[in-house]
Amino acid sequence: MGVEGARRMIRIAGAPAAPGLAQGRLHRPGARRRAERRPGAPADERAALARAIASARVELEQLAARSGEGEAAGILQFQLALLEDEALTAPAFAAIDTGTAADAAWRGALDEQIADYERAEDAYFRGRAADLQDLRERVLDRLAGAADAAIPANAILAAEDLAPSKFLAIDWRGGGLVLGRGSPTSHLAILARARGIPVVVGIDAAACDGHGHALLDGYTGELVLDPDEPTRRAFAERMERDRSRQAAEAEYLARPAVTGAGERIWVTVNLGSLEELDGIDASHTDGVGLVRTEFLFQDRHGLPDEEEQFRAYRRILDWAGGRPVIVRTLDAGGDKPIPGLTRTGETNPFLGVRGVRISLRHPEVFAIQLRALARAAAHGPLRIMVPMVTVPEEMARVRWLLDEAVAGTRAAVRPPLGMMVEVPAAALAIDRFEADFYSIGSNDLIQYLAAASRDEPELAPLAKPSPALWRILKDIAEHGRRTGCEVSLCGDLAGDPAAIPALLDCGLRKLSVAPAALASVKAAIASYGRSS
Ligand code: PEP
Ligand code: MG
Repeated sequence: MGVEGARRMIRIAGAPAAPGLAQGRLHRPGARRRAERRPGAPADERAALARAIASARVELEQLAARSGEGEAAGILQFQLALLEDEALTAPAFAAIDTGTAADAAWRGALDEQIADYERAEDAYFRGRAADLQDLRERVLDRLAGAADAAIPANAILAAEDLAPSKFLAIDWRGGGLVLGRGSPTSHLAILARARGIPVVVGIDAAACDGHGHALLDGYTGELVLDPDEPTRRAFAERMERDRSRQAAEAEYLARPAVTGAGERIWVTVNLGSLEELDGIDASHTDGVGLVRTEFLFQDRHGLPDEEEQFRAYRRILDWAGGRPVIVRTLDAGGDKPIPGLTRTGETNPFLGVRGVRISLRHPEVFAIQLRALARAAAHGPLRIMVPMVTVPEEMARVRWLLDEAVAGTRAAVRPPLGMMVEVPAAALAIDRFEADFYSIGSNDLIQYLAAASRDEPELAPLAKPSPALWRILKDIAEHGRRTGCEVSLCGDLAGDPAAIPALLDCGLRKLSVAPAALASVKAAIASYGRSS
């Protein structure tokens, strides 16, 4: 985190987690200290806990009524179901009967459940531990008679962490959020993106203490504390421009992407988790151009079995409603380690055993994924894509393994098998690679062409599109046209509106982008080739 200061104004660099701009008074909710209860008669303690649970339930029901469908409703309904569950509440009431105060009894019962969820094999249940913590605190607040501190409108909230139900209870109009913890793929970031609330993570909330006003940039990750007058004015002008741009772009979201000259361009979305589906309307897309299946393998004990993977792929196909879905086989390694699978201690992990290199070295793990994919393909137009292909033999080997999976599961169809084009050796000799479709991974292709790491901020001026990249993109698009083989681009370059004209100039006609970039990319496509 870099800090540079000029008198009172301070600029702090964090990581952008949800796009947008906000400016307002800083609000720092202090860590609440609750006085511990003295245990009263068990009957009184029982009554106090029952009242606290009832009032927590009313609060959650009110929140659920305001939140509508989707991810938010799922979180709140889960917490409501927990409150109804005797298995959760009975141990607390039993502890009260042995003389424990209501708050200690509730905390003890919930802590035990939380530990169970945190130890769960299934990533879904481990993810739900945060909901239990949230529920524990809500009931403890009610027992202590504490009300949720009101957050003023247009505030920039700075906290170390924020529970999803607290987030949903806040009126965010005009506001923004700064968090010490979290990542762009956290639950909270997904909720915020769906509601258009800017979020920056990776900034120590204590750095905001003693400051009054802040400017928050959810595009770049910058937080400016106590901005001077010229900085405030410039930011206000940017906000105005941003508002007009968003309003203009939103007009394009629900329409098919068409250039100014009337040519139809296919725009699909990239998915990194199932939760993202709740924030996207499938009819705004032409399908899913990349499912990063690493999400099924990360942050868990043990690898996902065939059934869990099948359910996840099927859920995406159901959501897509007949639109094509390209699922990429596991791209572990590099910056995506998977305990028990990827190697530790590689000198250069991005040039190491990653992507298909790992899958082919663990045929037992790969076979499970291919079987799950072959079964899911019976439920919609699923295609399989192989990452980090470097030599044609890798594709031949995967094709053979896929045929085995199709035969072994008696799948009715053999899904099309395509490859990511992200290693220069493949990109420069694309005619040697037999694949049903190609998708260009510009993130890796750029870093390998420039020999400059994609996550080294200091090398950003090198790790960007170069004449070499544009030449390669043109050649691959041309090869696709000649052979009738579909070519798309699913790296982050496709989500950058400023890069759209150059990508279309190269002859690319299928782009896959982060869901948040759909409207701006469609708008950029619409202005391409428009005669003014
Ligand atoms: C890419 O390399 O452009 C790509 C889409 O894959 P990832 O970012 O997951 O490596
Ligand atoms: Mg890649």
